[in-house]
Amino acid sequence: MKKNIAILCSGGDVSGMNPALKRFVEYSLQNNLTPYFVYDGYEGLIDNNIKKTSYCDVAGIVNRGGTKIGSARSQRFREAKYRKQAKENLHKLNISMLVVLGGDGSFRGLHQFYLEHKIKFCGIPSTIDNDISGTDYCLGIDTALNMIKLSIDAIRDTASSFKRAFIIETMGNKCGYLALVSHLTSGSELCLIPEVPYNLKDYEEKFKHQIKNGRRYFIVITAEGIKQNAQEIANWFEDKIGIESRVSILGHLQRGGNPSVRDRLMAHEFITYAIDGLLKNINETIVCYSESGFNYKEIDAVVNTPHQLNQELISFISS
Ligand code: ATP
Repeated sequence: MKKNIAILCSGGDVSGMNPALKRFVEYSLQNNLTPYFVYDGYEGLIDNNIKKTSYCDVAGIVNRGGTKIGSARSQRFREAKYRKQAKENLHKLNISMLVVLGGDGSFRGLHQFYLEHKIKFCGIPSTIDNDISGTDYCLGIDTALNMIKLSIDAIRDTASSFKRAFIIETMGNKCGYLALVSHLTSGSELCLIPEVPYNLKDYEEKFKHQIKNGRRYFIVITAEGIKQNAQEIANWFEDKIGIESRVSILGHLQRGGNPSVRDRLMAHEFITYAIDGLLKNINETIVCYSESGFNYKEIDAVVNTPHQLNQELISFISS
């Protein structure tokens, strides 16, 4: 008998989810599985918003950001009675395997779901925070970094015309990955992230000296989770460095945009590994990626190990 497999997206959407959905449908059918979409994350699992899918549902989506099947944050899924309802919906449709695209919160929910109901699953790290322990890459990161790059390049054009400091805030409440990589790849003057304590006073003399020597503008990249907000940093530039300042909060544009080549390829590979793993009975795992390639990690270890930002990248901030 043909087996049924479902996929859902949970937590913040990322660019790369649509190419993943396309590969999911095509690779499931190639493997004689019947693919299902769960709409709107764990909410759809609870509400039985689960539909059989096929090639025509994924035509023309590979180049689109976001996710065709919707994503959600679900308060109800935190409660056991709704997780039981979710399991019953999967059972009614005879769905025995589940692929989840999401961040660490989504995996925590999935872990709980498995402990209670033993649904076979595979998780695919998908978050622009890149803050999941055990994997160097999360789907969506490359596109988000490219969106930020475009924004910083555009801001640099105007910053260099006027004598101004621009404070550009990226997403990243607890993890400064987006800000740090954007800093290193855009040649900004200062990067402030939650993982690295700072004191603005330490930069005062250096920046004043640079202005005296002809510097016309500053680009500063901050992650949203630092102790001061972007406007406070801008005020410091005006008060202490004596340069007019502007704030640019990139916000949700970082989540959108046409998926980059890297995210399309990663989506293809993540899904292939996820389905291969499930077919080989490698269950209850997250597909992780490191320099040595793809591997499967126990969800327990992934959700219970604190994430650490790459120390070498951090060391470049001050060098
Ligand atoms: P992002 O990194 O983009 O924020 P995320 O997956 O970390 O993505 P969260 O909002 O933290 O996003 O989690 C997504 C959903 O996972 C929650 O809305 C909730 O439904 C479920 N979830 C998170 N933690 C738990 C938990 N401990 N028990 C049950 N469900 C959970």
